[in-house]
Amino acid sequence: MALILLLPAVLYQLCAGQPGPPDSPGRIAVVGAGIGGSAVTYFLHQQFGPQVQIDVYEAERVGGRLATLTVNSQLYESGSPSIHSLNLHMQDFVKLLGLKHRREVPGRSAIFNGEQLVLEETDWYLLNLFRLWWHYGISFLRLQMWVEEVMEKFMRVYKYQAHEYAFSSIEGLLRSLGGEHFVNMTHKSVAESLQGIGVSQRFIDDVISAVLKASYGQSVSIPALVGAMSLAGAQGNMWAVEGGNKLVCSGLLKLTKSNVIHARVTAVSLHSTEKKHLYEVQYERDGTLGSDYYDLVIIAAPMHKATFQMSFLNFQPPLAELARSYHRVVTSIVHGYLNASYFGFTDPKLFPFASVFSTDSPEAIFHSLESLCPVNVSAGFRRKPPQEAGVWRVLSSRPLDRKELKTLFKSYYSVQVIEWQAFPNYSTVSPSKSLPPVLLHDGLYYLSGAEWAASSVEMIAVAAKNVALLAFNRWFELSEKIDQQDLMHRLKTEL
Ligand SMILES: Cc1cc2nc3c(=O)[nH]c(=O)nc-3n(C[C@H](O)[C@H](O)[C@H](O)COP(=O)(O)OP(=O)(O)OC[C@H]3O[C@@H](n4cnc5c(N)ncnc54)[C@H](O)[C@@H]3O)c2cc1C
Repeated sequence: MALILLLPAVLYQLCAGQPGPPDSPGRIAVVGAGIGGSAVTYFLHQQFGPQVQIDVYEAERVGGRLATLTVNSQLYESGSPSIHSLNLHMQDFVKLLGLKHRREVPGRSAIFNGEQLVLEETDWYLLNLFRLWWHYGISFLRLQMWVEEVMEKFMRVYKYQAHEYAFSSIEGLLRSLGGEHFVNMTHKSVAESLQGIGVSQRFIDDVISAVLKASYGQSVSIPALVGAMSLAGAQGNMWAVEGGNKLVCSGLLKLTKSNVIHARVTAVSLHSTEKKHLYEVQYERDGTLGSDYYDLVIIAAPMHKATFQMSFLNFQPPLAELARSYHRVVTSIVHGYLNASYFGFTDPKLFPFASVFSTDSPEAIFHSLESLCPVNVSAGFRRKPPQEAGVWRVLSSRPLDRKELKTLFKSYYSVQVIEWQAFPNYSTVSPSKSLPPVLLHDGLYYLSGAEWAASSVEMIAVAAKNVALLAFNRWFELSEKIDQQDLMHRLKTEL
């Protein structure tokens, strides 16, 4: 019996190609190769050093929700299209990997309430400001100040992480950035928060609802923190990676020389010896089963009720907290002629917008509609006006039927549809429910729960760095680097 119990450890020693220094973990498994899995692999590699072998399991495709598809021999972003300029980890990755920002192609936006355009952007900054003021008073200034305050506090995380501080819960991380107020922002709604600072109901109904619908397919009742991050994006300064955002994922995995295993992880089981815990990762690849042993396992895939199926054997992580629902968003990439008359433009040549956002109205058949640029923008590229066949991205809550497509497009050559389990279903958030845990067991970490604080590429990159630092600090028992509060003050006096 004792021999059987020791078998995994013996196998592990045999499997570990190049064991690191005695006190380092020998092997680490990462489940998922989206930006979360790729970024945590990079940060783990940075922390523990190149001698630690990292295996990355990916069930579908590297990049996850950073994805592209082809229309007319050109690639377009089909998942997450844009990144904010204050997203410093993503900026660093792009520099590190020698990638470039895609050339920006300006385009104007409008907001549609299902019957008519309620707000139209012009080419003139001052005129846009004047229009906002005319329609909504100083609500937009109040909004701007609120968003800036949130972003300023959020940016503290980069300083903490540069000093290798980590947090064992998402609440702890948020508390260190903006106190209890930040934690409350993960369950208090955007609408309530904005009303509290005097933003008018009309501005919330017309503008905020349209931005949040376009970003998360959800209403102004989503939590304030995720709302503020999304509204920061709507204020501009967005960018994308030349060649496709997913190049960051493949680039980081290549840079770290990690071992990418194209397999679906089906279970993690615990085997404890006297000295340490070992985790057996069981997987399925092309109908065959396999398994391997690790000191640390990082789950970088959202555990949602729709598709995530993984069992935990010989131990019981807090699963009830994890299995939450995600919100479906459908992306339709349409190559065709926009029906400008649906938006009140009988002459398509006069339709000047590159994107149209829909308010949260029952008449709206889409969340947003946007003229797409390919992931490689040549110097001569220009957006196609509606009288020419262009590539449009339509986001909606369900696949558009033929009638709806015919409403939005005069005619089309192709429609490609992707159904995403896109974002946390924020309507299930409540003050009584805490955010998903980061630490599932001594050496088992869950990264993707951070999406419940805010679903974005950068939030996941921040969570990835936090998990890598936490795993490192816990492994080497650097407790002074874990769950420290008052860091802002401390770092000021330390420097
Ligand atoms: C349509 C859309 C638009 C978006 N727009 C933006 C935007 O403009 N800006 C922004 O910042 N964010 C945006 N997002 C959100 C952003 O894409 C996500 O927050 C981010 O990509 C999540 O990365 P991740 O690595 O945590 O998860 P994912 O990208 O989902 O990666 C998880 C990976 O794990 C794999 N996996 C799952 N289960 C297993 C298993 N059992 N075994 C092995 N592998 C497994 C999956 O195949 C997947 O590749 C958008 C998302 C969508 C869908």
